[in-house]
Amino acid sequence: MAIERTFSMIKPDATRRNLTGAITKIFEESGLRIIASKRVWMSRREAEGFYAVHKERPFFGELVESMSAGPTIVQVLEGENAISRNREIMGATNPKDAAEGTIRKLHALSIGENSVHGSDAPETAKQEISYWFSETEIVG
Ligand code: GDP
Repeated sequence: MAIERTFSMIKPDATRRNLTGAITKIFEESGLRIIASKRVWMSRREAEGFYAVHKERPFFGELVESMSAGPTIVQVLEGENAISRNREIMGATNPKDAAEGTIRKLHALSIGENSVHGSDAPETAKQEISYWFSETEIVG
């Protein structure tokens, strides 16, 4: 098993409902260690840059709108197979398809307001971590 790092966000729909601690607890109880964490209110420009890969998708405007509508917690999680482990803990993108016990099953409101983001591959994890954190902010 490889020790990996992944990038995570607790989205504005979740911070608005005061779920930062509840979601963080799920990460920690699943064996993931939070080695960097900060609260940011991203601008539209930052949201557009972060989600640039989706810019041609029909939901892009809605995504940028919801991600810049309130505070987000950006985090780096570390642990065994952290990237795929975090995707499991998060559950499917659409909460209607999410497995029992996953964060999205427990907390998401809709596909657009689905409470968390997690990197989907090693390359994107690296890219997303460096979009939000400098090296000195990550303390493993
Ligand atoms: P994820 O990796 O599970 O977050 O899913 P994707 O990378 O496919 O999509 C990124 C984010 O875009 C999702 O987490 C959703 O918040 C949003 N999204 C994806 N599909 C839709 C959709 O059909 N409608 C809306 N409103 N948002 C969507």
